[in-house]
Amino acid sequence: MLRFFHIAWLLVLVILLFLPSTSFAEIRVFACEPEWASLAKEIGGSKVETFTATHARQDPHYIRARPSLIAKMRKADLLVCSGAGLEAGWLPILFQKAGNAKLQPDKPGYLFAADIVPMLEKPILLDRSMGDVHPEGNPHVHLNPNNVLLVAKEMTKRLKLLDPSNAESYQSQFENFSKKWQNALSRWEQQVLNLKGKRIVTHHMSWSYFIDWIGLSLVNTLEPKPGIPATTNHLEALLQQVRNAPVLAIIRTPYAQDKASEWLSEKSGVPAIVLPYTIGGTNEVTDLFKLFDLSLQLLEEINNVKR
Ligand SMILES: [Zn+2]
Repeated sequence: MLRFFHIAWLLVLVILLFLPSTSFAEIRVFACEPEWASLAKEIGGSKVETFTATHARQDPHYIRARPSLIAKMRKADLLVCSGAGLEAGWLPILFQKAGNAKLQPDKPGYLFAADIVPMLEKPILLDRSMGDVHPEGNPHVHLNPNNVLLVAKEMTKRLKLLDPSNAESYQSQFENFSKKWQNALSRWEQQVLNLKGKRIVTHHMSWSYFIDWIGLSLVNTLEPKPGIPATTNHLEALLQQVRNAPVLAIIRTPYAQDKASEWLSEKSGVPAIVLPYTIGGTNEVTDLFKLFDLSLQLLEEINNVKR
């Protein structure tokens, strides 16, 4: 009997040893924002385990550097963030406390989207005066689908470097994603034709890449400067601008306060809407495809009502 148990244990051990290693996630991804965690899932599939530091109802500029985040960062193999100062209020603290050598700027485990994509609103001089939270240019880069593809390509490169044994899998997942994305992109580019040149107001400069990609026209933002709350004087001046010519919508993220938007909407009659902004922005937005599908659908609906 004893012997039987010995043999049984030995069998279990042998099975464990020879289980294909591919059935376990090999790379731990620490994403600063939900859009990058979603992209890592597209490229990494079952080979990656993703963690997101912020969710759709949090302003990624301002979160608390909680100890649980430090613990996650300590164990991560790949850090993916928007960069350009978006996480300046919390990431440096995590970075310092986690002390993870794999995530240093010269390592493949350090991936910042702002280093990959063409940046908008890049100032000539670095300037945080008056509380401007975009001193290095606009960091909300994921809302141009072309940027998503650029980051996907770089992320694939990094995953292959970090985990060469699964390089083929990362490459083929990237190719699948890229094909699907480019098909969606052609569809979206047809959809946005009716939106070109339409005037909009946004709460924060969160939508610059989206506006640029679609060809919308930004009248102004509710914030006088990125990160500075709306003032009465600024809103009164904005109301005049809105009255000068038709405006399609006043757009905000799910995490922005609604007060300024609703005030302007009430005074001007222009609809104030919330667009999903990132994964989880509304319950239906479970991946990057749905993020663009739904955002465009919401804008189209408003555009159709207006005509
Ligand atoms: Zn911002």
